[in-house]
Amino acid sequence: MQMVDLKGQYLNIKPEIDAAIQEVLDSSAFIGGPVVQRFAEHLSQYMGGCHVVTCANGTDALQLALMALDLQRGDEVIVPAFTYVASAEAISLLGLTPVMVDVDPRTFNMTAETMRKGLSPKTKAVIPVHLFGQSCDMEPILQLAREHNLYVVEDNAQAIGAEYTFSDGSVAKTGTMGTIGCTSFFPSKNLGCYGDGGALFTHDHQMAERLRMLANHGQREKYCHALIGCNSRLDALQAAVLDVKLRHLDEYNDARRSAAAYYNEHLQLIDGVSCPAEVCGKHVYHQYTLKVNNGRRDVLRSYLAEHGIPTMVYYPLPLHQQEAFRGIGRLAFELSVHDAASYCAASVLSLPMHTELTPDDQDLVVSAIRDFFNL
Ligand SMILES: *Cc1c(COP(=O)(O)O)cnc(C)c1O
Repeated sequence: MQMVDLKGQYLNIKPEIDAAIQEVLDSSAFIGGPVVQRFAEHLSQYMGGCHVVTCANGTDALQLALMALDLQRGDEVIVPAFTYVASAEAISLLGLTPVMVDVDPRTFNMTAETMRKGLSPKTKAVIPVHLFGQSCDMEPILQLAREHNLYVVEDNAQAIGAEYTFSDGSVAKTGTMGTIGCTSFFPSKNLGCYGDGGALFTHDHQMAERLRMLANHGQREKYCHALIGCNSRLDALQAAVLDVKLRHLDEYNDARRSAAAYYNEHLQLIDGVSCPAEVCGKHVYHQYTLKVNNGRRDVLRSYLAEHGIPTMVYYPLPLHQQEAFRGIGRLAFELSVHDAASYCAASVLSLPMHTELTPDDQDLVVSAIRDFFNL
């Protein structure tokens, strides 16, 4: 059993993928060109018509988003303390100050309440991360951001295809609610290519132009550089793979949701673990992440490994405990044995989750967990 099964997924769509790759080989347009453009158009349609700017990876997308905003050295940007490092890294690399806020242990995401504790007169932006495939509770976050004139950069790397339901019943795709949305096409992401890739989303035409320039050496036309930019491109082979997989994305996310429902059904009555809660709209389960109670996460993990069941800990250290961030930024919550970021880092366990997972695989996982708890 594997955490992810990229080979199995490829074999199921091999004719489509091989033909798409062959088309790029035949055209020899490896950087830019019609295949990249076509994918960007299809992705724009999928995301409800927003502008799409492709780039080299999800970390670049975050950096480009921050570069495109009107920010000065020392300005503060709010990020969740329990997340992947990329957002805080991009903030710090640009001379901005990351302000780490706590998360809701139920959803693993930052909330308007935890964000509020991070606000200061220097706050200029916030990066809600839709962790593990579930939207943050965006309505109050967007409201608070509006009240304080903050840019909202959504980190949608784990949640492409997820939806958020507003209190009036309207539904939005994650990545399209803020000033800019960022995503990653790293192979294991819900929409992944066969190398590195990323994209940015915005409803603002001028912002899209600015992002496009920044990703291409700041040039508006060839060899005329209006901005200091960088070189960050999605190549045509990756775009060709993505264009095929985008056609399957909803079906892939549905497969993840079914697998999650199956885990929930069989694990929710076990006292020793808490199943992930789905509370903010359509969760796309980039990860299926349990919380293991009573400090038994690591023993359960070893037990499952002995029984041939892979698991992962995303993420074992919150940002403020990372060596690189020692003395960097500001912590906007009280550290204690009870802060949610530290609690999540100490208790999370992600189970095998991918588009080819079968109920038979899942039965093995479930029965090993039941055995561990002597059920
Ligand atoms: C994967 C990921 C990124 C970075 O994407 P890369 O393409 O690997 O640079 C950023 N944020 C989150 C939450 C991620 O999961």
